[in-house]
Amino acid sequence: FDMFVLAFVERLFRPTYKKDDFVLGKKLGEGSFGVVYRVSLANKPSSKEGDLVLKKATEYGAVEIWMNERVRRACANSCADFVYGFLESSSKKAAEYWLIWRFEGNSTLADLFQNREFPYNVETLILGEVQDLPKGLERENRIIQTIMRQILFALDGLHSTGIVHRDIKPQNIIFSEESRTFKIIDLGAATDLRVGINYIPKEFLLDPRYAAPEQYIMSTQTPSAPSVPVATALSPVLWQLNLPDRFDIYSAGLIFLQMVFPGLRTDNSLIQFNRQLKRCDYDLVAWRKTVEPRCGPELRRGFELLDLDGGIGWELLKSMVRYKARQRLSAKAALAHPYFDREGLLALSFMQ
Ligand code: ADP
Ligand code: MG
Repeated sequence: FDMFVLAFVERLFRPTYKKDDFVLGKKLGEGSFGVVYRVSLANKPSSKEGDLVLKKATEYGAVEIWMNERVRRACANSCADFVYGFLESSSKKAAEYWLIWRFEGNSTLADLFQNREFPYNVETLILGEVQDLPKGLERENRIIQTIMRQILFALDGLHSTGIVHRDIKPQNIIFSEESRTFKIIDLGAATDLRVGINYIPKEFLLDPRYAAPEQYIMSTQTPSAPSVPVATALSPVLWQLNLPDRFDIYSAGLIFLQMVFPGLRTDNSLIQFNRQLKRCDYDLVAWRKTVEPRCGPELRRGFELLDLDGGIGWELLKSMVRYKARQRLSAKAALAHPYFDREGLLALSFMQ
């Protein structure tokens, strides 16, 4: 069956919405390219707080709708459930793109970082119950491993679809209460290399705290970057040449680092870490050598976590946070890394 026909039929039978169908609730976020609200359907007032999310976006909304449509068909579990997107131009203001998702839950990974209990608060969310096992390195390791696996799984879905997210950070990873897994949100800076959508890198969209050192997603030697859809046959070659997906892997590596070291969870400390790493020429081993001899108990504990099981966590971290994109693991290869060989969180809950 032809993919185009499938997409068309799917589109035909999906409900369509317009502005007046929604009742605005609480504001959830506001960035430079849009405002996000919790909303409910006007004809379905049963949902008190609203079981949908609305983003009113500026010009980049068109790309974000396109990316979400593609994700829903190709790798639905990777990202928040997209419902519908449309151009809203009925008011006197400049036209806005409206994007609707299902409300996935109250916490992003950034919210969960704020809690002193992290990562135990996540264990409770994933397992749905409080564990009365002794707290310790081994248990923390398994929770962090489970979170990393979920993030990499979602990234693998996106990358296999040909999409690079380019804004992977704890603020853009939401805990889906229904599936009890982490999902990726905010495809506003994403790029789809297979069809050339949003190919020209908008560096100003990138968050410097989590961005990999390469300034451009594709090497500047790539001949004339197409800005309009091009033949898909060409793009996989470019993908192989430039490995743009490794940009997201670097960001995911920084999230791994933040999970292991509580002291790196604030913006300022992460910015300071980035400066230190740059001074070490992006060599994590060199960074470790400079900080470990004079580190406090918290940092030491982080290294102990990474050194468990013969240092397999440290090994994985090193193969994600690397200067050269080519030397970073792909999401798929990271999932096959021995760090994930051991059973994760679920095994822990059956251990008692
Ligand atoms: P922005 O461009 O403002 O960063 P995001 O898409 O990241 O927009 O959304 C902003 C915030 O709204 C997120 O950090 C999250 O707290 C919340 N949010 C977004 N999508 C959802 C969703 N599907 N379910 C629940 N909350 C969401
Ligand atoms: Mg965001």
